[in-house]
Amino acid sequence: MVRRFARGDRLLVASHNSGKVRELQQLIRPFGVDVVAAGALGLQEPEETGVTFEENAIIKAKVAALASGLPALADDSGLAVDALGGEPGIHSARWAGPAKDFDAAMREVERRLEAAGATTPETRRGTFVAVLALATPAGAVDTWRGEIAGTLVWPPRGTQGFGYDAMFQPDGHTRTFGEMSAEEKHGWNPPLPPLSHRARAFAAFAAEAMGG
Ligand code: IMP
Repeated sequence: MVRRFARGDRLLVASHNSGKVRELQQLIRPFGVDVVAAGALGLQEPEETGVTFEENAIIKAKVAALASGLPALADDSGLAVDALGGEPGIHSARWAGPAKDFDAAMREVERRLEAAGATTPETRRGTFVAVLALATPAGAVDTWRGEIAGTLVWPPRGTQGFGYDAMFQPDGHTRTFGEMSAEEKHGWNPPLPPLSHRARAFAAFAAEAMGG
């Protein structure tokens, strides 16, 4: 483990995505670690040139840790759709374009699913993936991955969450992430197990880095 945190320590959340920052802050809060958001420090977002979630999470964490002098936690995540060969995957943010239009990105997923003939729940499978990378200013880095499988529904349902939440119904549930409160989406209230990909990655990180 590259670094352990105690109450009152500072941790930079290396993301400019407000949905991710909000969820990571909610997950970190119970540990009493002081969260600093990358946007508040005016840090630039690096180009994501990696070809895996791990590579991109490491790029973001390392750049932020070096620029800030703080340990930095980055999240690279996305929706991998089986019938689309794993797309949008690491390109999930890019499918929304510069306007970050996720209604359009969800419509594009639906258009391609229909084009692929994926019209039954069994053929409309997808997995949300989140990889967290922690980097220290000295250059040490470690990663944790979380995944949650589910069905892609149409039309989208619910207005909570962000990104592709409204079209993703996690296995074992009858509502989409867009219809769940943040607490339900995290599903993590130790000793209860985490639900979302991000909460699962975070639980693995916390078990090592935060003694929880
Ligand atoms: P990136 O990790 O910054 O490249 O962007 C990840 C993208 O994946 C986000 O902009 C969302 O579109 C999508 N995504 C990741 N996690 C979630 C989630 O929890 N709910 C909905 N969409 C997500």
